[in-house]
Amino acid sequence: MRGAPLAERVREQVRADIAELGSVGLATVLVGDDPASHVYVSRKHETASADGLHSIDRRLPADTSQDDLLQLLAELNADDGVDGILVQLPLPDHVDAEVVLRAVEPIKDVDGFHPFNAGRLYAGHPTFVPATPLGIMALLEEHGVLLEGARAVVVGRSTIVGKPIAHLLLGANATVTICHSRTRDLAAETGCADVLVVAIGQAALITPSMVKEGAAVVDVGITRTEAGLVGDVAPDVAERAALLTPVPGGVGPMTIAMLLRNTVRAARYRRKLLAFP
Ligand code: NAP
Repeated sequence: MRGAPLAERVREQVRADIAELGSVGLATVLVGDDPASHVYVSRKHETASADGLHSIDRRLPADTSQDDLLQLLAELNADDGVDGILVQLPLPDHVDAEVVLRAVEPIKDVDGFHPFNAGRLYAGHPTFVPATPLGIMALLEEHGVLLEGARAVVVGRSTIVGKPIAHLLLGANATVTICHSRTRDLAAETGCADVLVVAIGQAALITPSMVKEGAAVVDVGITRTEAGLVGDVAPDVAERAALLTPVPGGVGPMTIAMLLRNTVRAARYRRKLLAFP
């Protein structure tokens, strides 16, 4: 399940939507020096700009106070040229991420991390949903993976990937199991999965013997090694699974495309072309 071809189609639609809507603005806020975060944010801006979004890139020093950060978010909330706001995680330890994420106006919360949007998903009314799980659902749909009644196993329970993808799969009528570091027999759980989504961040932890023959497997993990980027799923799982996302080139391109799609959605909400709940 390669991500790039579908991501390109999503981005084509984003470009068409922006042409119709006029200026659409995405602001990102990055605090500190984490090199991976700088790479991720730069990539988001390159893609956003290439697709015609007006992108605002705010990078702040690691010692920025929480109050200054909240002040910046208040300015971006009030800025009519900004449709979507994204606060890159992780934030430095002296900043309370909960408080900061709650300071983003829900109607501009294109990452879907505000409790309002997380709660909407939990209640079965997805509004802004984090981009990575949205990308995974789009890939599964693109490849005709049957979810209704299927056994879906999610490994990882982060608020960015594991929990939201579990809710989306549940909403699609899969029977969902969530595994994590305290799961007693991980292989027994993953071995039953018709659909297996792995988001843990440990290179090649999922091996062929842990996967059901013919399963659809989504590998979200990214670990940097000397050999390059590797996923949470060993590549030879491809011999046992019916479908597998590659790393890199699977979920990654979909994540950025869905972020841009969420920003277009925010522009529609803000222009009252769509009703924001
Ligand atoms: P995270 O917040 O670190 O969560 C990792 C989850 O994995 C936790 O729930 C943890 O369990 C679980 N876990 C760790 N070791 C485990 C083990 N041995 N067996 C079972 N579960 C285990 O990670 P995240 O933010 O969800 O990201 C996960 C991975 O996806 C990372 O590699 C990240 O870089 C990647 N990622 C990729 C994209 C993309 O666009 N491709 C987007 C987001 C994230 P506990 O809760 O019990 O600690």
